[in-house]
Amino acid sequence: MGLGHITGHAPIRRLIARAVARDTLPPCLVLTGPDGVGKRRVALALAEMLNCEAMNPPEAGGPAAFPDACGVCGACQRIARGVHADVIIIEPGETGSIRVDAVRAAVDQAAFRPFEGRRRVVIIDDADRLVPEAQNALLKTLEEPPSASVFLLVTSRPHLLLATVRSRCPELRFGGLLTDEIADILVTWHRFNPTTALAAAVSADGSVARALETGSDDHIQARDSAATLLRALAAAPNPKRRLETGKELGGARRGSRSSAAAARETLIRRLRALGTLLRDLQVVSARGDRAWLANADLAAELTELVQSYDTDRAGRGFAIVERAVNALTRNASPKVVVDWLALQI
Ligand SMILES: [Zn+2]
Repeated sequence: MGLGHITGHAPIRRLIARAVARDTLPPCLVLTGPDGVGKRRVALALAEMLNCEAMNPPEAGGPAAFPDACGVCGACQRIARGVHADVIIIEPGETGSIRVDAVRAAVDQAAFRPFEGRRRVVIIDDADRLVPEAQNALLKTLEEPPSASVFLLVTSRPHLLLATVRSRCPELRFGGLLTDEIADILVTWHRFNPTTALAAAVSADGSVARALETGSDDHIQARDSAATLLRALAAAPNPKRRLETGKELGGARRGSRSSAAAARETLIRRLRALGTLLRDLQVVSARGDRAWLANADLAAELTELVQSYDTDRAGRGFAIVERAVNALTRNASPKVVVDWLALQI
């Protein structure tokens, strides 16, 4: 699949296509931005562009009037299947980290001419999982990059890379996808019907990965907790009762003993679900188009909740939830965040 067939990220795709056409691609790039927006897909499309045996001319739909990979020749197909000899994909192993030997093997290969293609491409996915020793091994190569090789580091957490690595690799910053773009991807690549796709996309916050989670057990459980919280807070009981209600939102799932990190993730998932409910309440309250509801299947419940959450309260609540999620991703104490939220909504 060439760059021209990727949804969203038009400026980045243009930049890459132009650099390839003019042979000005840097030897190393960091592809950064939220999870599930297509960074790895773009890295693979770039690998195809560098090795395609039958490039499509610009007029055949390449991004912004530049040649694009054909997506069907032997090289493109082998790259898409992950079996091209010159396109090396490194990702975390079972330990969750990327060990130094994986990087050393790739770095050694990169010193030689490509086997079958024009350029060797080393894609390191979840590059923030590189152990420091592996980053140092990589660093030596980045200092004097072999001319026929390109290193693509894919990560949603670039701040975890060594400063010395980052300083040598220009960053391509991906943003979230638009709701329409996500719906489009769900229909085209994941066989969603258009109505379900739109509902999943609305609650996905710019990420295809998150849209695909919609409907999973975890998602449904998170939404149940969030709805319970809204019902309990709707009656606006006294602060003490509010704090108790909040505690339930932060509580572990029944029957699970989870680590602090897992508990934080569960809480964030519940808050995101809470955010989608509050956004839906704004839609219902403003008598907006129901096609935009993320929780259209809860229409009856939303109609009941909207008695307590008018546009103002739901809008304020949504902003509060956003601040809470931000604080949690920056490592704030879950208890402090939940207490604050329960008193504010
Ligand atoms: Zn091709």
